[in-house]
Amino acid sequence: MASLKPTLGIIGGGQLGSMLASAAKKLNIKTIIISDDEQAPAKKFCDKFIFSNYNNDEKINEFIKETNVVTFEFENIPFEILKKINKKNPVIPDPDINKIVQNRFEEKKFINKMRIKTTKYSLVEKKEDLLNNKNLLPGILKTLTLGYDGKGQYKINSIGEVSDLDINFNNKYILEKKIILKKEISIIITRFKKNSFQVYEPIENIHEDQILQNSKIPAEIDKKIYDQSISWAKEISEKLNFIGTLCVEYFIDKNDVLYVNEIAPRVHNSGHLTINAYNISQFENHIRAVCQLDQVQLKKITNAVMINILGKQIIKYRNKKFSDNEFFYDYLKEKIKDKRKMGHLTILKK
Ligand code: ADP
Ligand code: MG
Repeated sequence: MASLKPTLGIIGGGQLGSMLASAAKKLNIKTIIISDDEQAPAKKFCDKFIFSNYNNDEKINEFIKETNVVTFEFENIPFEILKKINKKNPVIPDPDINKIVQNRFEEKKFINKMRIKTTKYSLVEKKEDLLNNKNLLPGILKTLTLGYDGKGQYKINSIGEVSDLDINFNNKYILEKKIILKKEISIIITRFKKNSFQVYEPIENIHEDQILQNSKIPAEIDKKIYDQSISWAKEISEKLNFIGTLCVEYFIDKNDVLYVNEIAPRVHNSGHLTINAYNISQFENHIRAVCQLDQVQLKKITNAVMINILGKQIIKYRNKKFSDNEFFYDYLKEKIKDKRKMGHLTILKK
């Protein structure tokens, strides 16, 4: 007998939430999104939208009552809230995973324990910790939690620069040694259960001002890095006992050494090209894994480039005509802000 499809709860209403809700719709899965942004773009794509702070008990209970399984589009949701929801409805991936990857220090320790390489780093809780880690300069100081798109990061070239920076030591940080980058790549992987994965090919990413500008497949990398990046992503998702889609961001240095930069326990901007370049997107695979639907054999359709559209650039794209190998996504955000991700364009290539 066919089983009933669950109603999926999604925490967070940005573009990732929109794309998850659209993928769910295609699979005939109802979605309820909860967001603390009244104008959340994803409200246009889900079946029901709940506007609420994440600590509003009444609204969270309504969200729990109306859903069967819950996932999230961003990892910085307070841990207690995820735990609370998880007592009633399964939250997938497991909130305990967030405890590790929400915190750059715990995340790096976890990765190194698996004998996987990261940049050199040190915990920074006070100014002296910076002065005692000169060996990590030039480096990047990053807030321990809550950073994205380079927010909460300071580039520090030499110890003399420290006094010029207005660093708030009420927050904790890690200082990372800066790597001379040859390239950045990412692996998008969906884990369904023990030793059962679907992996997309490595994606090459270009960042400017710490914000992703564009992504492409194939990545121009050698076979050793291709294989290593995939095998580390499998190991990491297995070790985390992860269910759903995850992204591992990598650095490659001038000597072709591969490092894990960070883990995103969710669908990822660099994976947007999977919507058009594969038969099953990172979003659909996430829904399939979280809702325990069948796996479909992953097939690449074509090479592709994805271009992020930031801030005011969106206006020009909204008025543009596109060729049949170009796919424009407008995130329908109410406000245009400088450097804000407003949409993306995927161009399919031979
Ligand atoms: P976020 O959480 O904001 O994505 P990341 O740690 O991924 O932060 O940093 C954003 C970008 O900044 C990276 O993709 C990379 O381009 C650059 N960057 C960060 N850390 C380093 C480093 N240690 N060495 C060189 N470049 C770095
Ligand atoms: Mg990053």
